[in-house]
Amino acid sequence: MLIEHLNRQLREREVLALKRQRRITESPCAPHQRVSRDGQPARDLLAFCSNDYLGLANHPALIQALADGARQFGAGSGASHLINGHSRAHATLEDELADWLAPSIPQALALYFCTGYMANLALLTALGDASATIFADKLNHASLIDGALLAKAPMQRYPHGQLALLARQLARCTTPVKLIVTDAVFSMDGDLADLPALLALAERFDAWLIVDDAHGFGVLGDKGRGSLAHFNLRSERLIYMGTLGKAAGLGGAFVAAHPSIIEWLVQSARPYIYTTAAPPAVAHALRESLRLIGGEEGQQRRAHLQQLIVQLRTQLTTLIAAHPKLGWRLSDSATAIQPLIIGDNAAALALAAALDAQGLWVPAIRPPTVPAGTARLRITLSAAHSAADVQQLLDGLTRAAQDLTGTVA
Ligand SMILES: *Cc1c(COP(=O)(O)O)cnc(C)c1O
Repeated sequence: MLIEHLNRQLREREVLALKRQRRITESPCAPHQRVSRDGQPARDLLAFCSNDYLGLANHPALIQALADGARQFGAGSGASHLINGHSRAHATLEDELADWLAPSIPQALALYFCTGYMANLALLTALGDASATIFADKLNHASLIDGALLAKAPMQRYPHGQLALLARQLARCTTPVKLIVTDAVFSMDGDLADLPALLALAERFDAWLIVDDAHGFGVLGDKGRGSLAHFNLRSERLIYMGTLGKAAGLGGAFVAAHPSIIEWLVQSARPYIYTTAAPPAVAHALRESLRLIGGEEGQQRRAHLQQLIVQLRTQLTTLIAAHPKLGWRLSDSATAIQPLIIGDNAAALALAAALDAQGLWVPAIRPPTVPAGTARLRITLSAAHSAADVQQLLDGLTRAAQDLTGTVA
């Protein structure tokens, strides 16, 4: 009965072009990857799908630091942070992350988590008790939505970026604690939240602003310090979540906030307490990642990434204008996330397949990850890409557009 029930739903997804397929990468995360699928022979693809924005995931210094960390601290942590899993490597990393956010959040302390998903569940369940209301942008990441659903506090969602509506919700709210929760860079669109305006609302309505900077940390702001630095914000009302598996190239996440908030998370957040601490070697290597991000090399990588973004957007805008019938649309994004919105699920899949046939790997993102009718290719750029790589993608998209419209250049 259960199996029939599941098989029926799986078939439905297939019919709706919603079935997802995993591929197996046979080589490290990099633009040029060896990939296999369905028992077919492995192929070399040029990938535009990782969140490894600075190209650090396969950086020799981080591989070395991971090995050094394992030599010094062993392979596994052995237990949760509140038992004996909290190593010197974790503690020192937390001190450095707190310094990283100190310009934006006075007195900030930091807490390291195994993943960003868990950090968001922890934050929203620990702070969102019955005395609170959670206000969330409709396009927030799934982990923020799930955290809010698990929390005792009711959630009110506002349409993407519509801060006038948020202001009305805040004005009507009678709970003593108000938590505004937002992605800083929206993960499927690449656009930035208006953090200065959100912070102004938090101040006006005595609320707190939780900022999920999964796609800004390491990439935006002076020295890659993230979205708060990008906007020059500074306030005790800010609660920051940064992930360390994207631009930082390793894994895990952290929350930086007022010391009492951090202490409350340690005492009460179940996704922090009831899980084994990440291997200390990862924390050790993350310290090297912070040095790279904040240093000259990070600066150069961010500058190169910026050039690639301009290259892609300029030429893609021209391509889209040349083929209006396709209905393609470029998201309003200045970040490394550059979605090409197609609309129809099957059409997005077909375009991804046309690129795949040319050795290009760009994932088609469909509902429920994005709203119905806005299926897209989520192109992400990395500092590890070259200008020639980006040109190859543009050539592939041009060929696909010509095939679809029966035109030639
Ligand atoms: C990736 C992501 C997360 C989850 O972080 P993980 O470390 O991958 O679990 C949270 N929020 C946003 C906006 C993300 O893009």
